[in-house]
Amino acid sequence: MLIECPECHQQHTITPEQFQSSNGAFDCPNCSTQFDPLAHLTETFPEQQRHEEPEEILPTSYPWEKTRQPLSAAFWTMGAIAGISLFFVQLFHFKSEELMQNKTLRPWLEQACLLFQCQLPMYRNIKDFSVLHSSFVASDKFYTLQAAISNQAEFPQQYPNLKLTVLNFSGSAIAKRILRPREYLNQNMSASVLRKAETFTIKLDLALPNAQVGGFTIELI
Ligand SMILES: [Zn+2]
Repeated sequence: MLIECPECHQQHTITPEQFQSSNGAFDCPNCSTQFDPLAHLTETFPEQQRHEEPEEILPTSYPWEKTRQPLSAAFWTMGAIAGISLFFVQLFHFKSEELMQNKTLRPWLEQACLLFQCQLPMYRNIKDFSVLHSSFVASDKFYTLQAAISNQAEFPQQYPNLKLTVLNFSGSAIAKRILRPREYLNQNMSASVLRKAETFTIKLDLALPNAQVGGFTIELI
C-alpha cells in the first residue's frame, strides 16, 4: 500500500501489518508527522515504480515487402530478357543481309521462320548465277543480245540486273546499258523469282549508234 504524508508529501509504502498496527496513527519517517494512513492512501506511484510501457517494437519487415522483392526480381528478369531480345533484333536487323545470304545458316533460318511465321528476305547472291551462253549479233537495224542464265543457288533468287557493255575493236567501252528484269523478260514471264537450278533466256534487240562493235561483256549486278 502507498500512503502520502499530508505534511511533507513524501510517499511511503506500508505493509498491511504496518497498516493494522498503526491504529490510525502513522509516523512519517521523513518529518515525524503523525497521520492516519487510511485517510492518506494514495494510488499515485512514485516515478521510479511506474510501470513502463514496453517500447513499441517496429516490425523488421512489412507484409508487402515480402512480395515486393520477388516482384522486383521478376521485373529485372523481364528487363534482362527484353534487353537480350532487343540485342538480337538489332543484330538481326543490321546483320540480316549477311545472315540471309549465309548458305549454312539460311536453311536453319527458313525452318525458324516456318515456326515463327515470319518472312525471310529473298536470298541474293550474284555469284550464284551462271551465264551459260551469251551472244551479241548485228542484224539489219539492231544488235541482238541473247543470253541464258541459270540460278545455281540452293535457294530461289530474284532475277538479276544485267549490265551490258559494248566495246569497240580496241576494247574500249562505247556503250553501256543496265537491263532490269522488267526490260529483258517477256511479258508472259512476269515471275520475278528464279527457282533453284532454273534457267532463263534473253533475246533483246538493241539499237546502237553507228559504231564498229568489236565485242561486248555481260555483268550481273
Ligand atoms: Zn512527512
